[in-house]
Amino acid sequence: MPLSRMRRYCAALCLFAVLLLLGGTTQARAADPPPIAPFLDNVLASVDTYWHVTDAAAGRPAPSVQHVWVVPGGKVDTACGVPAADDAAFYCPDDDTIYVGQVFASAIYDGVLQGLPGQKAGFGRAAGDFAVAYVVAHEYAHNVQEESGALAGRTRALPTELNADCLAGTWARWAYGQGRLDPGDVQEAIDAALAVGDFDFLSPQHHGTPLERRDALLTGLNSGSPPACNRYLME
Ligand SMILES: [Zn+2]
Repeated sequence: MPLSRMRRYCAALCLFAVLLLLGGTTQARAADPPPIAPFLDNVLASVDTYWHVTDAAAGRPAPSVQHVWVVPGGKVDTACGVPAADDAAFYCPDDDTIYVGQVFASAIYDGVLQGLPGQKAGFGRAAGDFAVAYVVAHEYAHNVQEESGALAGRTRALPTELNADCLAGTWARWAYGQGRLDPGDVQEAIDAALAVGDFDFLSPQHHGTPLERRDALLTGLNSGSPPACNRYLME
C-alpha cells in the first residue's frame, strides 16, 4: 500500500480508534460503581442495626465489633497471626475486628473476582452489590458467634461457617422487610454462597459445599430466625 494511502487509512482508523476510546472512557465512567468503602459502611450499619434489634429482643447485650476496610495495596497486622491485605474477608476474634479488602470487595461488586472454588466448578458467581453485602453479613455473624460463645473450642470450621451463612440470611430477610433490597439481590447472595463453596472435605477449614452454603443461607432467608440457624452448630 502506498504511503499516502496508508496515511489516509490511518487517519480514518485512528480517528475511529480515538472515538472508540473516548466513548469507552465515557461509558466506563458512567458505569463506575460508587467507592466501595462507603458502600461497605452502609451494609455494616444495616447489619449492626439488625443485630442490635435482634439481641435487644432476645435480652442479650448489644453487639460490638470493629472493622477495617483494607485500602488497596495495604497490609494490616491482625491479632490472628495473619495480616489482612487486598484479598481479606475474615473476622478475627482475637482483636474483634472484621477485615475486608477494598480490592476484594470491589472485584465482587464488579463481578470480576476469579478463583472461587465453587465458581470454578460451575456453581454460582460472586457478583453485584448484594454479593458483597452477603460477605459482610457473614463476617459479622462470626462476631455474633464469638459473643454467644459458639466460636470457642471448635476444631472444624464447617458448623460455624454454615451457621454464619444462615445468620447472614436472617439479616437479608430483615433488610428485605425494610425495603432495602432491589430485584435480583437475593439471587446475587445465593449465587455468591454457591461460588464460595469448596470441596476440601478432609480439611478442618472446609466451609461447606456450594449447595450446603446456599441451603444454609436459604434457611436464614426463609425463616428470618437466628435460632433456626442453631442446627448447623450441632453438626
Ligand atoms: Zn466464615
